[in-house]
Amino acid sequence: MKLRKFLAMALVVCMIFAVVAGCTQKGKEADPVPKADGETKSDAEPQANKDEAKKYWITDKPLELTIHMHFRDTMVYKEDWLVEQKARELTNIYLKSVAPQNATKSTEVFNIMMASGDLADIVGKDNVKDEFFQYGMEGAFIPLNDLIDKHAPNLKKFLQERTDVQKFITAPDGNIYFIPYIPDGDAATGYFIRQDWLDKLNLQVPKTVDELYSVLKAFREQDPNENGEKDEVPWLDRKSSDAKETIRLVTLWGGHSEDWYEDENGKVHFSAAEPEFKEGMKNLAKWYAEGIIDPEIYTRGKKAREILFGDNKGGATHDWFASTSSFNDKLKDKIPGFNLQPIAPPADINGRIMEEYGRELIKPDGWAISAANKHPVETIKYFDFWFTEEGRRLANFGIEGIHYDMVDGKPIFKPEVLNNAQPVNNQMWEIGAQIPRGFWQDFFYEEQWMNPVAKKGARMYMDNGYIMKKFPLLAYTVEEKKVYDRIWPNIDTYVSEMKQKWLLGAEDVEATWDKHVKTLKELGLDELLKVQQSAYDRYYQ
Ligand code: CA
Repeated sequence: MKLRKFLAMALVVCMIFAVVAGCTQKGKEADPVPKADGETKSDAEPQANKDEAKKYWITDKPLELTIHMHFRDTMVYKEDWLVEQKARELTNIYLKSVAPQNATKSTEVFNIMMASGDLADIVGKDNVKDEFFQYGMEGAFIPLNDLIDKHAPNLKKFLQERTDVQKFITAPDGNIYFIPYIPDGDAATGYFIRQDWLDKLNLQVPKTVDELYSVLKAFREQDPNENGEKDEVPWLDRKSSDAKETIRLVTLWGGHSEDWYEDENGKVHFSAAEPEFKEGMKNLAKWYAEGIIDPEIYTRGKKAREILFGDNKGGATHDWFASTSSFNDKLKDKIPGFNLQPIAPPADINGRIMEEYGRELIKPDGWAISAANKHPVETIKYFDFWFTEEGRRLANFGIEGIHYDMVDGKPIFKPEVLNNAQPVNNQMWEIGAQIPRGFWQDFFYEEQWMNPVAKKGARMYMDNGYIMKKFPLLAYTVEEKKVYDRIWPNIDTYVSEMKQKWLLGAEDVEATWDKHVKTLKELGLDELLKVQQSAYDRYYQ
């Protein structure tokens, strides 16, 4: 194993070295693409092989385009990434990286470039949608709608099928200015419970909100950790700053805990102003008073899971599948029989089974074509390449034969990738895969390295359709943005305080509710709702 790992690493190092050396040498020549010498050999090759090798070629003459892509404050597009090299070989287009390599603030680097007016051919970044819209509408980035229509068949097909993405990337002026990174696999978080405690107390997995209450109450009363002390904390939550995963339990009474939601008629609501939210908060305050919810919920800190599961005191939580499942491996020697399992969301008081939180299925990340780009057609074809089957595989899994093998038509990571000391995502970033270029992620990439418990949970939530449709990330006009920025921060702060006071019993929910609704109005909620509604309506027009 060790030898194999070393060989794999040596191979990677060699390849990087070869290409760096190749680039330096070729930099002086007109031809920047190391593999472009196919022409000279082609006479000796059968025609079919030659055509196959050039299947994705966008241009017969190698083309160099500059890219400015500084992202996640820590990463810069690199010419020696294996994925970039492979893309170069396949498309005959070579991206030359021009963003500063040592800067540590992506937004700053982006702003400096925009202010200079000296734009690269391609500009990429994470969390940049609003800027792409704004600068696009000002003319710094070109509209892509016609280019996609005429020259990007794979992208076009994708956007026709994923109208949510199409809407998300359409600016208020109706134009598309960037191609986004589209994550895959919407399962993110779910309910977890100590199965070994259920077994000990002879209880079933809770299937409704009432059953959940009974089970958690039994955890509190019946000493499932068998130490003779009433030290169990039935429900815990590591989001101690706002108890987010606990407030989310209002969904079990028909409420919503994310700030905004849409009803079936397309009307936008502010969650914490609705009667279902009030009902949920009343019950959660009761759970807290009865010791079902961690008494130190707001102060326990981010390590709540490590502390309470590690001390064999915690019974249930709502959190990310991958990290929560991992406690089974971490604690198996310390706590004999420790068995923390994902369960379906308990049905709410109306019988609805729903997981409110899903992963973002579209990111405000991606890349755009600047107005300075002299090759927009080739560039949109290059963007399109990443939406071909081969391009998508390259962006997700790296290089066939080095990082994965095709087995029964599926890209299966090699053991040295799966068993590497570095997590798979880090390994992929280091070769330029899984970076926020405009591409469509494949959940199979992640599924291969999730532990079996996490995989079971994620599959259960996805395959049963538990995950609620996400409220869209809205795009505001300049006027709307002003209203939003004036009103929202005050409401946000006020409501966070109220949630805490209610949960901890410092204020009685029923007694203060009318005053609460009145305060929201005074803070401008109605005006803000109008803005939300108009941005939302534009999104779905
Ligand atoms: Ca106990």
